[in-house]
Amino acid sequence: VRVAVLSPVWFPVPPTGYGGIEWIVHLLADGLVEAGADVTLFASGDSRTSAKLEYVFETAPSERIGQTFWELRHAVACLGRAGEFDVVHDHTGLLGLALGALLPTPLVHTVHGPLDGEPGELYEHVCRLAPRGRLVSISLNQRRPRPGLPWLANVPNAIDLARYPFHEGHEGFLLFLGRMSPDKGAHRAIEVASAAGAPLKIAGKCREPVEQEYFEEHVLPRLGAEIEYLGEVSHAEKVALLQRARATLFPIDWEEPFGLVMIESLACGTPVLATRCGAVPEVIEDGRTGIVVDDYREMVPALARADALDPADLRAAVRERFSPERMVGDYLAVYEQALALSGVPA
Ligand code: UDP
Repeated sequence: VRVAVLSPVWFPVPPTGYGGIEWIVHLLADGLVEAGADVTLFASGDSRTSAKLEYVFETAPSERIGQTFWELRHAVACLGRAGEFDVVHDHTGLLGLALGALLPTPLVHTVHGPLDGEPGELYEHVCRLAPRGRLVSISLNQRRPRPGLPWLANVPNAIDLARYPFHEGHEGFLLFLGRMSPDKGAHRAIEVASAAGAPLKIAGKCREPVEQEYFEEHVLPRLGAEIEYLGEVSHAEKVALLQRARATLFPIDWEEPFGLVMIESLACGTPVLATRCGAVPEVIEDGRTGIVVDDYREMVPALARADALDPADLRAAVRERFSPERMVGDYLAVYEQALALSGVPA
């Protein structure tokens, strides 16, 4: 099968710093090659891939993030060549979907963001205008606000287990890893750690003005000897934290479409305490890989149950359910389905 994978253009594939989608695109493109597919990755020129790489911009135009002109130049370079492929797999967001679904080549579009509120409304509009697009969700919960969209499959994300090595034992601290946003809840993690009398290490992106504002108001004043903020950490630092933490706190308060941090933690052998929001119940097996609570305050008494979980089994769960091989296999099946729907034999 000849697949064009259309990446977001704002960061290289894989990303050098913060980034979730670009990691998924990386594991997918390289995994498809491994599985014998003929893959062309449309991304920025500073990307690394075993697929054929096509690009308009030598380096990812990160400083232009969100600007249509840049995104469109990147997308049309791929979509203009759609006829050379059996299927185009778009990860860019609405722009790639809107344009790509107008073409005769089957278009599969993975929805990476949440669909509540205005984004969901816009998806409805775009799918009405371009009804040939086929959508893939990354969790079933992600579909909930918009069940009538043209869903083709649900394909949960994956991680490269080799980049998140297993580590038995811990150093007693709790970990919060995530963007500085009220949705992610560093301030709730602080409350939990303080109430539990456990040290907390916080690592996360704090670049945008809204992130800085949140940080200054809700995190900074509560830092001290026991509550530490490490800034945005490198991959090696992140892995060391995930490996040595007693548990990862994931006290989210939004419809998180997936939540890669959870599976990164499990791969390293560290249980996750998470609130029942978004994809959490689909990712965390309560009582096996972590503890899912209705209210984040319940994390305090739940810590002891998290301590009792078997670290080796956490990693086993990731290998079973979130390996790149599983994700690639799922997507190959999705491409077959898309081809069948368009009447073209695979
Ligand atoms: N991440 C990171 N540095 C940070 C915060 C997050 O490298 O300061 C990584 C994290 O390990 C994960 C990704 O960025 O791989 C975030 O993906 P996730 O789905 O957890 O959350 P999102 O930020 O996309 O809502």
